[in-house]
Amino acid sequence: EVEAPVTIVIFGVTGDLAGRMLMPALAALYAGGNLPKNFAVVGASRTDLNDDSFRERMKQAIETHGSLSPELWEKLAPRLTYRQVHYDDPASFSMLAEYLDGLCESGNLGGNRVFYLAVPPTAYEDIAVNLAKAGLAEETKGYSRLVIEKPFGRDLATAQVLEQALHTRFSEHQIFRIDHYLAKETVQNILMLRFANAIFEPVWNRRYVDYVSIMAAESIGVEHRASYYDHFGVLRDMFQNHMMQLLALCAIEPPSLFEAELVRDEKTKVFRALRPFNEHDLRENLVLGQYASGVAGGERAPAYLDEEGVPGDSTTPTFAAMKVYVDNWRWQGVPFYMVSGKRLPAKRTEIAVQFKPVPYSMFREIFGDHIKANRLTLRIQPDEQVSLTFQAKAPGPMCLRSVTMNFNYYQGYEGPSLSAYAKVFLDCMLGDQTLFWRQDGVELCWKFLAPMLGETDPDRLFLYKAGSWGPQEAGKFLKAHGLTS
Ligand code: NAP
Repeated sequence: EVEAPVTIVIFGVTGDLAGRMLMPALAALYAGGNLPKNFAVVGASRTDLNDDSFRERMKQAIETHGSLSPELWEKLAPRLTYRQVHYDDPASFSMLAEYLDGLCESGNLGGNRVFYLAVPPTAYEDIAVNLAKAGLAEETKGYSRLVIEKPFGRDLATAQVLEQALHTRFSEHQIFRIDHYLAKETVQNILMLRFANAIFEPVWNRRYVDYVSIMAAESIGVEHRASYYDHFGVLRDMFQNHMMQLLALCAIEPPSLFEAELVRDEKTKVFRALRPFNEHDLRENLVLGQYASGVAGGERAPAYLDEEGVPGDSTTPTFAAMKVYVDNWRWQGVPFYMVSGKRLPAKRTEIAVQFKPVPYSMFREIFGDHIKANRLTLRIQPDEQVSLTFQAKAPGPMCLRSVTMNFNYYQGYEGPSLSAYAKVFLDCMLGDQTLFWRQDGVELCWKFLAPMLGETDPDRLFLYKAGSWGPQEAGKFLKAHGLTS
């Protein structure tokens, strides 16, 4: 529970992320009694708004993307105020600092501040520099925390430049690099499942696991984010962050305590153990694709190249499949198949742990040698569930069948639930960085992906129909997940 008063300043509050995710999350936290008694939210953006027009905008955003009763709004509205700022102008940050000091005194808010940078990454550095110049990075009167969203750079070099810019002003303990996937219930559940049960860990290794498959499929295209997406593509947008985190959670060793630095240390060890891609891997163990037109979600979908804002000759991949190895004692020789793409048939994020077949079948004379192996599936989106497939006798004559034991994540639970962004805010106020990226992990993942990012041969970018599971060339990766293209 958060008790310490706090002022949350959201830069870029007029944008998509703030309207769709951040404000609804704050409203939900307030409604659930999860915010401290004394708190304020200050919107800070270049757009010319006053407190009233800002509130009206936020009211609409919360109503559209969250939930808001008239009673809640009446109490929430006075907590919201707006300051116009120009991110590259030190004077507007001095005025913001004065305003925050005044607000602190009048609202009995103390000196704790969260600065949420919901702006394009190109503005991160200006804001960090100007916050520091205005004395807002100091922690003399309370904490000062800077929250940033992916992408953390576009490659290793730009990630290091960004880091230097942030770090000269803020210390690592002040920087919260969000990966909202980590705040999803079933993603957190991976560690609980593995390390709060005795039955999984003994078989969670190369002796029993055949392979692990991680899939994050999206049915949508680039929507209104074409200019961002075309500059980044699927490797930077999904693999450098969410996919690597899912891999790390499946592969890590148990830390001695569920504590931010210890958990992040273990993840770093996994990233260090990733087998680097060579020329052979780039050809054999990586497939990049781009969607052509087709039918997705029951509607005609244009080709990526025909999406508004995408250059007609773009070679940006919207699909990637790769086979990755973690070179350590536990995972030697076990492939991790990773697949992510846009305009696939469904929104679906899941991890499948495929176990090896039985070493010997005493039933071979009845059923032949083909006894299906066990599979544990952790579904993260759209519904959250864990399922275990195993073999059982079919009722009646001697016959074997595959059956599945399902656990629906909310089964038997009636308490409140929090969105990923609500949890991000809470952890940030509590100063808990467990669910946030540490810079060493960011850099190791960029380093691992570097050869793939350099793969720009247009002949190796395979087209796939919107609404299919990806290019045919990705067949073996998809098969690992029980799919065909
Ligand atoms: P956005 O809508 O494009 O921009 C947010 C706000 O930033 C705009 O309303 C604008 O506010 C200001 N802005 C726009 N372009 C700018 C520029 N070139 N320089 C300075 N300020 C500019 O961005 P967003 O989608 O909300 O995303 C914000 C951050 O979250 C980005 O880093 C993005 O990569 C990350 N992110 C977003 C999502 C998502 O679902 N939207 C998901 C994951 C990560 P003013 O003009 O009023 O200043």
